[in-house]
Amino acid sequence: MNKGLLIVGSADVKRALSMSDCIDAVDRAMRALSSGGADVPLRTVMKLPGGRNFFGVMPGYLAEPQGLGTKIITIFPDNAKLGLSSHVGLVLLFDSEIGFPLAVMDAGEVTAIRTAAASAVATRSLARPDASHLAIIGTGEQAISHLEAMLKVRTLRSIRVWGRSPEKAAAFAQEQGARWGLKIETSRSVEEAVRSADIICTVTASREPILHGAWLQKGAHVNLVGASQQTSREADNDVVTVSRFFVDSRVSARAEAGELKHAMQAGLVTESHVLGEIGEVLNGRVAGRVHSDDITVYKSLGVAAQDMAAARVIYDRATREGIGMSVPFYGH
Ligand code: NDP
Repeated sequence: MNKGLLIVGSADVKRALSMSDCIDAVDRAMRALSSGGADVPLRTVMKLPGGRNFFGVMPGYLAEPQGLGTKIITIFPDNAKLGLSSHVGLVLLFDSEIGFPLAVMDAGEVTAIRTAAASAVATRSLARPDASHLAIIGTGEQAISHLEAMLKVRTLRSIRVWGRSPEKAAAFAQEQGARWGLKIETSRSVEEAVRSADIICTVTASREPILHGAWLQKGAHVNLVGASQQTSREADNDVVTVSRFFVDSRVSARAEAGELKHAMQAGLVTESHVLGEIGEVLNGRVAGRVHSDDITVYKSLGVAAQDMAAARVIYDRATREGIGMSVPFYGH
């Protein structure tokens, strides 16, 4: 038995977890989640005094890719003002045969990559094959990783970004444009960004709708990523009602999907509006996009199966290539 515990910090997570590998692993994890190959209890989220900040614990077991463990993450939205990440914490990976902890990893980086990878899996499956006009709403860490992820699954002809701070949107366009050798345009409003888009990623911490269904063109695909509590929503009721609506996990959606909850409370839809989990679409049990004019929505809340899949990729590569630091932990 390996007597060490592997520590994988943020830079090493980046080295060990490429977006492409993560997309493949998350694809398998979502199929497993929707076919009995994963056990993912609803996460525990504690609201901290003051009501702005959260402490979350997300345990999970995944058969293939093999993963057992938990993510422990804090969400401090105002950290960004200090130049710090708003999502930080640990991913703990255990050996699922003998129950020993194997590794401790930086959760912020894992979350940034795996969430975008999950949106890529959904986009690959639900967006039109020829979708090529991307709108990114938000300019934070998820905006950066979502751009990379979308580039992996569609050939993009135009990219627009909107941020509530025009300066941050301009910086995003300049830096990410230079990183990928692309022209990224900034938009003055969300409406302007999404009007001609056929892939839309909302990745903001807004609690109120910033995306309106009236602005969506036929055939668009939307990844709703930013809101993860039942009292928050980035999209209005029209986005829900006009769309073929898919989720990462039905259990999570029932408890945490603000857009869905709001439309249900308004009496506009029932829970049956959720056509399926993305894993059910991937497994061929539920139809995804049926018509090229359909508007599809993937409501992302984030599930531990994604973290475990990513952690397994990181652990395997890190042990193979000597990435991270192994500290003696067991035995004498
Ligand atoms: P960051 O803190 O890096 O970025 C947050 C972004 O949201 C910034 O562009 C910020 O703008 C913008 N924003 C904040 N408040 C508002 C508002 N009221 N209206 C419009 N824009 C706003 O966070 P991340 O990129 O890491 O995460 C983005 C969102 O995604 C968060 O809400 C997070 O909880 C969620 N998330 C979801 C996951 C999932 O699995 N579904 C996983 C991880 C994160 P500014 O810079 O001007 O403040």
